[in-house]
Amino acid sequence: MTDTDVDALLIGGGVASAAAAAELRKQGFAGSIALVTRELDPPYRRPPITKQLLGPEAGDTDLAVVSPQWWDDNDVQLRTRSAVLSLDTETRTATLADKTEIRYRSALLATGAMVRRLSLPGSANAGIHYLRAPANAHKLRAQAAAAHRAVLVGGSFISAEVAASLTESGVECTMVMPERAPLETAFGPEVASHVARLLTARGVTLVCGEQVSEFTGDGTATGVRTASGRDIPGDLVVVGSGAVPDTKLARKAGLRLGPSGGILCDRTLCTSATGHWAAGDVCEYHSEVHGRALRVEHEDHAIAQGVTAAHGILGQPVAHREVPYFWTELAGWARFEYVGPATQWDRTRVTGSWDSDFTVWYERGGRVVAALTSGRPEDLDRARAEIVRA
Ligand SMILES: Cc1cc2nc3c(=O)[nH]c(=O)nc-3n(C[C@H](O)[C@H](O)[C@H](O)COP(=O)(O)OP(=O)(O)OC[C@H]3O[C@@H](n4cnc5c(N)ncnc54)[C@H](O)[C@@H]3O)c2cc1C
Repeated sequence: MTDTDVDALLIGGGVASAAAAAELRKQGFAGSIALVTRELDPPYRRPPITKQLLGPEAGDTDLAVVSPQWWDDNDVQLRTRSAVLSLDTETRTATLADKTEIRYRSALLATGAMVRRLSLPGSANAGIHYLRAPANAHKLRAQAAAAHRAVLVGGSFISAEVAASLTESGVECTMVMPERAPLETAFGPEVASHVARLLTARGVTLVCGEQVSEFTGDGTATGVRTASGRDIPGDLVVVGSGAVPDTKLARKAGLRLGPSGGILCDRTLCTSATGHWAAGDVCEYHSEVHGRALRVEHEDHAIAQGVTAAHGILGQPVAHREVPYFWTELAGWARFEYVGPATQWDRTRVTGSWDSDFTVWYERGGRVVAALTSGRPEDLDRARAEIVRA
């Protein structure tokens, strides 16, 4: 196999890596860049997977982050279907699955996250879906065409988005979750109650306070059974039980991990090995803004971190001071935008009206630590400014 040398090796084919490549060229980086991804496709966006790709307009949805010519035009070597198997951080050498060795000056680890799979009786049944890549959505959509009922496992935004999308396609949806209402873990009980009202008003059935203990069916999923013994039937089961950072490569390379299981980085997104940076879902950095190690799985934040890491690769490291931003959309029914994140708050304040547009302000010790809005995006700027000052 031909060995090569590159100045910047970007590992991972998500938005974080793509943003780093774009920022390097934008800043006039004249060195060679290679982006290596085990995906079949060049970098693409994931949010449409649970939204447009499950809806009637799926065929027109282009997920690519940049046009196919962009890579050549910007002299970025794109290696799809190529996994990096190991990294020697001392000699700065990456070994790919086909045994090619790439020597590099700087590396970005943007290996993202993987779905958290539930290991329960019946897990091997056909008809149990997890969503991370477009192919997962295509398969679900094809099966949904012949399905009457779907069970969504989990109270996550993924489950809520899929419930909304499938309901729009005429599938009866039931969400089963241990929480008292969807999205409660991230956004608290008031927002969760609002989302519950919204979903049930559109025909989604909610089974709350119940843990799924088994997938029912003999080879093919027929639904789920809860810990309390309740059977919930469905021709389809979709699991939205979160994601885990993909740190396999980082662990093998001996990089330090953080308390949330991501690759531990300093405030400039430099990992425990000099010249090795991390960005996106896999990155757990010291956030000066929050005063703690932070890891989020938000698309815009992954892009922003790709940009920050590029400055490190350029030899001009800067602290990553972005306030993480997240958005979610339930079919065309509602869109929520959020800045934070807050894990603890002692008070919430609501401005506006739950029936039209509103903002929920999360406060701790009299200071805003997060805000969620539906229809009042200008409030997010105010919240950002307060979060940064806090
Ligand atoms: C279905 C879905 C819906 C979402 N919706 C929203 C939303 O509405 N709003 C929002 O803000 N966020 C949303 N997100 C989250 C957002 O998509 C992620 O935060 C973002 O994609 C993270 O980008 P990334 O580049 O860090 O990682 P990823 O997109 O996970 O990319 C990592 C890449 O690295 C590759 N890789 C891993 N290891 C190796 C290796 N050793 N060698 C080569 N390649 C490797 C992987 O194959 C993958 O291509 C959603 C996520 C999903 C899955």
